[in-house]
Amino acid sequence: MSLQVHKFGGASVRDAENINNVTSLLAAMNDHTKVVIVSAAGKTTNALEKVVSAYMNKDADFMALFEAVKQMHMVALAELNLATDDIVSDIMDTFVEIDWILEEEPQDEYDYIYDQIVSVGELISSKMLYYNCMANGINVTWLDVRGMIITDNSYREAKVLWDETEQNINREINAVKDSYDVIISQGFIGSSTENFTTTLGREGSDYTAGIFSYCLHAERLSIWKDVPGILTADPRIFENVIKIDRLDYKEAIEMTYYGAKVIHPKTIKPLQNRSIPLYVRPFNNPEESGTLISSDVTPAYPPVIVLEADQIILHISTKDFSFVAEEHLSEIFSIMTELKIKVNMMRNTAISFSACIQNYGSKVKRLVGRLSDTYNIVEEDNLELITIRHYDGLTRQSLTEGKMVVFEETIGSTIRMAVKDIPIVKRKL
Ligand code: ASP
Repeated sequence: MSLQVHKFGGASVRDAENINNVTSLLAAMNDHTKVVIVSAAGKTTNALEKVVSAYMNKDADFMALFEAVKQMHMVALAELNLATDDIVSDIMDTFVEIDWILEEEPQDEYDYIYDQIVSVGELISSKMLYYNCMANGINVTWLDVRGMIITDNSYREAKVLWDETEQNINREINAVKDSYDVIISQGFIGSSTENFTTTLGREGSDYTAGIFSYCLHAERLSIWKDVPGILTADPRIFENVIKIDRLDYKEAIEMTYYGAKVIHPKTIKPLQNRSIPLYVRPFNNPEESGTLISSDVTPAYPPVIVLEADQIILHISTKDFSFVAEEHLSEIFSIMTELKIKVNMMRNTAISFSACIQNYGSKVKRLVGRLSDTYNIVEEDNLELITIRHYDGLTRQSLTEGKMVVFEETIGSTIRMAVKDIPIVKRKL
């Protein structure tokens, strides 16, 4: 029987009602074996990030923050009628590992602790879905992804070790695929070769689903989301947004590169390498076709808009008026790499280099601090970055109305503009 991979994001398992919805959806798909990858419920990862930060900063409320995360899951478990002794004790055993960490004084590195704590979100959500599927008569099993996805130990941004991972995934899935209809595992997390939990970067569950699809030569991957498919812009911000029915891999990679929050940027490459089609589909409307991403080249696309708020441009010039040459750029970039700062747009003239980056606050301060011995730096903040792929004049005009474009770049059919609001001048008299 063919094997398909399905990924359910946080919104689709955020509470009892949605977990039931996913369970019915899985029960209705009976024509293929399903590997199901699950994110943490709702905003659990954000809540766990707060626990980590409070614990590391020794704030008084870190235990209370963690109790609130537990409580939210316990409520959902009770609403699903799953709060039996066995299930509650399994869920509590999973949480207890974090209790043990929190009972000790913080000693290890932030990023290491982060991965140990934040990963519990996916472990618990996948168990809840598993127990609910079982209670609803689905022939289901649960696998710990840390026995399959092996990574290096770059905590919070771990790199997959593909050979080990491919072998493990095939071994573990082959061992169960003929006995179960649904195999549930976790997105976002992995294990280092020393058996410590790692994570693949925020929103990494899509990538996990891509890794499984690649390793298993899956027939297709379906990513179930709370939107109708891939849209031309964020419908919460823009009007007249439409769904794109088909995208080719290259376009999907470019869109995510330019900041479209549709799927995790690393997801597409493994799928493209093995020509595995990806369907982005609405879990509230499973009959709808969603968006298909595949190798079929699509001839024309409508303008696609990505808006990124909170941008800053750093104008960096040499104090001694020497040319900004390769050695300066390599120094600037190596500090940016170290601080994990991504450049969205850049430009250089004879004696200056300008970069538009996300205003990460403290990181930008550190960057400026490190550069200020050698360079003069002028900061221009409160900017928005508008990217229009397949732009046309009308769309450009409508998006820049009432704004001043301070930095603009056109590459092929993509235009990027850093803009700021300008108050419209009005006559007083
Ligand atoms: N739960 C993780 C996050 O919120 C991973 C994911 O949902 O994709 O970033």
